[in-house]
Amino acid sequence: MTIYNLGSINIDHVYRLQALPRAGETLHARSYTQGLGGKGANQSVAAARAGARVVHLGATGAGEGWVLDRLAAAGVETSAILRLADIATGHAIILVEAGGENSIILHGGANLALPADLPGRAGLGPGDILLIQNETNLQAEAAALARRAGARVIYSAAPFEIAALRAVLPHVSILAVNAIEARDTFAAFGEDLPVEALLITRGAEGAEFRDLRSGQVWHQPAFAVQAVDTTGAGDCFAGWFAAGLSRGEDPPTALRHAAAAAALQVTRRGAGDAMPGRAEVLDFLKARG
Ligand code: ATP
Repeated sequence: MTIYNLGSINIDHVYRLQALPRAGETLHARSYTQGLGGKGANQSVAAARAGARVVHLGATGAGEGWVLDRLAAAGVETSAILRLADIATGHAIILVEAGGENSIILHGGANLALPADLPGRAGLGPGDILLIQNETNLQAEAAALARRAGARVIYSAAPFEIAALRAVLPHVSILAVNAIEARDTFAAFGEDLPVEALLITRGAEGAEFRDLRSGQVWHQPAFAVQAVDTTGAGDCFAGWFAAGLSRGEDPPTALRHAAAAAALQVTRRGAGDAMPGRAEVLDFLKARG
């Protein structure tokens, strides 16, 4: 079974400064780093490192070949990623001040210009999983197509937007949200959602999986670790959970593996580059009994 991920690919430009610039102010940055980011790319990397077959469906601008190399190095299949002319690769300008506070500018670029025939070319079939987040165009179209093909659709409602969620919701199998997104979803649509299941992550308080058809709920506590950077923890969890389901794990096993992976991920700096591999996660679980 294959995980197809209709997802964003971003370049994260991270500038560290003493203070964030005020309107009209020009400041020198203390340092600059560039990394692979975007919720889509992060989830693809997480699922591939978890051992799943992952085909990323997305696009970049014409340059920036290193981005695809980085995804491929993590084990993600990149042959369905288009290189579009005359458009920028999606990117984030991330300003971080000395105290850790940040300001972020996102530019969707190629992520929002995916051609309409991209999902149809993917070859989704019964038993496959389509992952989607709210950082690309074609979300509802791809989700509808996947369901018609007999695949399951896991949707991360982030960045949270009610209109986007409303459009895709009729085609979603599993809705993945953090605690704040869960609250906003319930406020907008009620708790009786038209999906098979809900995956709710609650940071250091753990996660839960609610099977809305049977009414069963599984809780997974977070593993106690020294967190240094929680960026991408939700993507790590979602990618690992999808990988577990794709190889037939039951919800409690998939939850446990995802929680261990996310616990390791938050002990490292970075998002996509901090996703742990399967061997590390199994060692971690063995050590924790
Ligand atoms: P982000 O937006 O930062 O990527 P998120 O809000 O989508 O994250 P969270 O609910 O914060 O996602 O975290 C996802 C999972 O990661 C949690 O359910 C938990 O298993 C793990 N996790 C997050 N923070 C910690 C922590 N401090 N210690 C251990 N595990 C953590």
